[in-house]
Amino acid sequence: MLERLLRYADKQLHFGELVTGVRDLRRWSHVPTADVVTAVLDMFFARLGSLNALEKLNHLPAWKKLPARSVSADTIGRVVDVLDDGSLRASQKMLYTSMKRNKQLVAPSHGLIALALDGHESHCTYNQRCQGCLERDIDGKIQYYHRNVTAQLIFDNFSFLVDMEEQRPGEGELTAAKRLYERVVRDYPRAFDVVLGDALYTNAPFINKILDSGKHVITVLKDERTNIYQQADFAFANCEPAVSFESGSSSYSCWDEGNFRMPDVSSALRIVKSEESTRIKAQLDSSLHIKTNTWMWITSLPSIRAGTRTVHALGHARWNIENQGFNELSNHWCSDHIYKHSPGAIRNFLLLCMIAHNIFQCFYKRALKPALQKALTEVLVSLQVAADLCGNWPRCHSP
Ligand SMILES: [Zn+2]
Repeated sequence: MLERLLRYADKQLHFGELVTGVRDLRRWSHVPTADVVTAVLDMFFARLGSLNALEKLNHLPAWKKLPARSVSADTIGRVVDVLDDGSLRASQKMLYTSMKRNKQLVAPSHGLIALALDGHESHCTYNQRCQGCLERDIDGKIQYYHRNVTAQLIFDNFSFLVDMEEQRPGEGELTAAKRLYERVVRDYPRAFDVVLGDALYTNAPFINKILDSGKHVITVLKDERTNIYQQADFAFANCEPAVSFESGSSSYSCWDEGNFRMPDVSSALRIVKSEESTRIKAQLDSSLHIKTNTWMWITSLPSIRAGTRTVHALGHARWNIENQGFNELSNHWCSDHIYKHSPGAIRNFLLLCMIAHNIFQCFYKRALKPALQKALTEVLVSLQVAADLCGNWPRCHSP
């Protein structure tokens, strides 16, 4: 399976150029950077979750016959720490360009491609710290942790992980998000139409930054104390829903009004409210329950560009970054594991994990036939990759 995956990646995604384009900051080296990058990508493809597990595979008799030298866990940690993150981001962009050119990234039916931004805490500890650690007081004891903001492009049936930015000591998530957004909009100026964020991103300077870059914005409106929330709530209380529809076991009623003014935001905004109820059957006694939820989104999208149901769909698409982003990366790809505790290593391992995830998803969804996808889950494909790494499989990307 690994041979098949890499053959596909080589042919469709220029995998060889992507790996050899990564640079590091070492003055001299006896281990080529491409060997280290290949080893780390192999580890993520196989979801091994540990450099020591990879090193143990390197010691198998089969690996000793391979042309590429095996790389120790210490060396991988040391080299990834000093990888040039700019070259990793350039490889990510090369991957995006290849996928776009091959028509593997298709816009959703409403035609709007969204960029979802969200913060994530990767790990916390009381026992270790590095110069990039954030600190907080938990019951009189200092806890150290790392947070980052991740950007993900949401296509039809594909979520492309674009970039991340670490939150530095003394700054908030929004400051890191602004830095990330400036880089993404510079590197991917035509890749998306609208930016999605949670309630934290309903912030006038942040919304102005997005509008000034020529993009639209949708964020969650949650704070009931704000004037704009109360105005919208009053307006919606006196009129009928603009749209009502059902989907699966859920029913939705949506209100949609424009011309709301948010303090310090340069243009008028539109607000969409959705009251949702879902029928749930209890497992214990098969009794039926109704679960209700209310969402309110604020957006700059005019109704001629995006109808009520499109804003509703985009608002819910923000969960992609939770479900197909953070949850999948941390639970199935071991992205939160600290392979080496230093700011550079944490950032670079996550960027490599994002590259591996994008390649793997593209291979699984585009290269494997539907019948094979039904027979093999993504985890089973990764297990086959791990089995290949244990056998006598020739590596095609030795420098
Ligand atoms: Zn740290």
